[in-house]
Amino acid sequence: MNIEEHIENIIRVIDPEAQDLQRTPVRVASSYDEFFSGYAHNPEDEINALYDSEMNEMVILKNIPFESNCEHHLLPIVGIVSVGYIPNGKIIGASKLARIVDCFAHRMQLQERFTMEVAGAVNSILNPRGVAVCVRAEHFCISHRGVKKHGASFVTKYFIGEIKDNYDLRREFLLETHE
Ligand SMILES: [Zn+2]
Repeated sequence: MNIEEHIENIIRVIDPEAQDLQRTPVRVASSYDEFFSGYAHNPEDEINALYDSEMNEMVILKNIPFESNCEHHLLPIVGIVSVGYIPNGKIIGASKLARIVDCFAHRMQLQERFTMEVAGAVNSILNPRGVAVCVRAEHFCISHRGVKKHGASFVTKYFIGEIKDNYDLRREFLLETHE
């Protein structure tokens, strides 16, 4: 059974008399195709356009918007990601950092794993001296159901390499990316 047929069944359980919903299962299935398109992409295989550079200070792309879905409730996670790294002879186009974020956002996610996956991909693609990632997001499973805490931000960070144990570098990244 495909997603479309399952959605049709869910609609029938919610409202057996539902009218005018014939196209809804198709629309939901096509939304799911988009939400979960990240499984078809592996940034480590797809992103290979690196450039030589003598840049040796931290490079940061901050406030990259993302939308994902939590794997516990299949409800939206909406927020921003900031990605920083200290090059080790190679740099990458800024748009590629955003592409890495989208690859992992378009999967069923836990924010903690998402944060580590983005950092891990930047690390393995660029082999930089260090990587820093900070994610701030609102989870609809917290804001729209259960405890219903609107506006609560969930913040996760992950550091690799020289940034991990260097509190000056951590502070440099976090001061730049602070809300
Ligand atoms: Zn959830």
